[in-house]
Amino acid sequence: MKEIEMYKKTQNKIEQVSKLAKIKPELIKKLLEPNKILEFDIPVKMDNSREYNFKGYRVQHNNARGPYKGGIRYHPDVDLDEVKCLAAWMSLKTAVVDLPLGGGKGGVIVDPKKLSKKELEALSRGYVKAIYKEIGPDKDVPAPDVYTTPEIMAWMTDEYAKLVGRLEPGVVTGKPLDWGGSVGRDIATALGGFYVLEEAAKKLKLDLDKATIAIQGCGNAGMNFAKLIIDSPHKAKIVSFSDSSGAVCSSDGLDIDELLITKQKTNKLCDCNQGKVIQNSELLESDVDILVPAALASQITKDNVKNIKAKIILELANGPTTEEADKILFQNKQLVIPDILANAGGVTVSYFEMVQNAKNENWHSGQVSSKLKKIIQESFDSICSRSKELKVDMRTAAYIIALERIVSAMK
Ligand code: NAD
Repeated sequence: MKEIEMYKKTQNKIEQVSKLAKIKPELIKKLLEPNKILEFDIPVKMDNSREYNFKGYRVQHNNARGPYKGGIRYHPDVDLDEVKCLAAWMSLKTAVVDLPLGGGKGGVIVDPKKLSKKELEALSRGYVKAIYKEIGPDKDVPAPDVYTTPEIMAWMTDEYAKLVGRLEPGVVTGKPLDWGGSVGRDIATALGGFYVLEEAAKKLKLDLDKATIAIQGCGNAGMNFAKLIIDSPHKAKIVSFSDSSGAVCSSDGLDIDELLITKQKTNKLCDCNQGKVIQNSELLESDVDILVPAALASQITKDNVKNIKAKIILELANGPTTEEADKILFQNKQLVIPDILANAGGVTVSYFEMVQNAKNENWHSGQVSSKLKKIIQESFDSICSRSKELKVDMRTAAYIIALERIVSAMK
């Protein structure tokens, strides 16, 4: 599905939910469009001495609860509607875990794999030059997203310092540790997902020592989630795993350490000599207790939802389940842990990074994980109670809580 459809669908969902939550339409109207859209060219002198203009975006969706917050995506398919959709989801995500932040998102139309390091640095510095008056620790705080890294965040922090004449580490999160980054930011999304899964398993009385898991995607979110599972006290088995090269499965459980070594060597999970190679579509339909979409949007749709067998769907990816599929999963009593909660660990630890920068502190990993766990558990509990009270699915309950908080701040 094109992202433009996703943005429209997000607007529709916000409108539907606001009716259910009895929020006045005039208040919601303001949330249907971003506060500000910045669209700009970034001139970069390429290695062949020619100048090339890259298209950049920063969408500031809502800041009623605090500074705009959201990553910057470098991808050839970036477009304004996608960035608008991701920015709106950020406003909902920061509100659902009750962080004092708003929502924003950025993007550049570029295939970063085709740039030299020098060109990538010039592009990243150029991005900041174009918007530095609109960002800042109390205004709008960018972070990494798809194909943007801690090193890129360091270049951006440095460029901002040059432009404003002082070092402000809190202008960007996801920085390297020696630039004021937070311990645990690299695994935060997966760790938040892991904590929420533990809560969901308790709720459904699912024994995580006997559970089977399928994971779609072996990047930051999927790979770290797999590592957390195998390093945890739970004896759950990961029986199917995929990346863009394909999927592998074994009912006895895959050897994840060995699989990740192969992934590191060849960048293809399927090169490991384990289990059976299957289609990515089959992975989604695996006979497992827990399905973890951690790659792409719109993976569980009206076309395959009837074949989805998992009891819990943990959405580490943004937008992996369509609205039509959501309805059917809810009817079938399959628990979807919505993206705005399941992958909120990343922005939560980004917030911790802002706090550490403001107070000039360095927290250790135990502090980061215990604070994250508390936030995720409390958010899960309040979403569950609301979903039970209103007899709605967890996504609807999460949207209600988020919208109520945003609207209350807007008032
Ligand atoms: P990533 O680029 O590190 O990894 C993506 C993975 O998906 C790769 O392993 C890739 O091979 C795989 N993939 C691509 N196409 C696939 C396909 N057709 N089938 C199976 N696998 C496929 O990205 P990431 O940071 O892990 O992000 C993954 C998802 O999680 C995205 O939706 C992202 O928006 C969301 N997310 C990530 C974070 C974070 O902190 N990393 C935070 C919030 C949300």
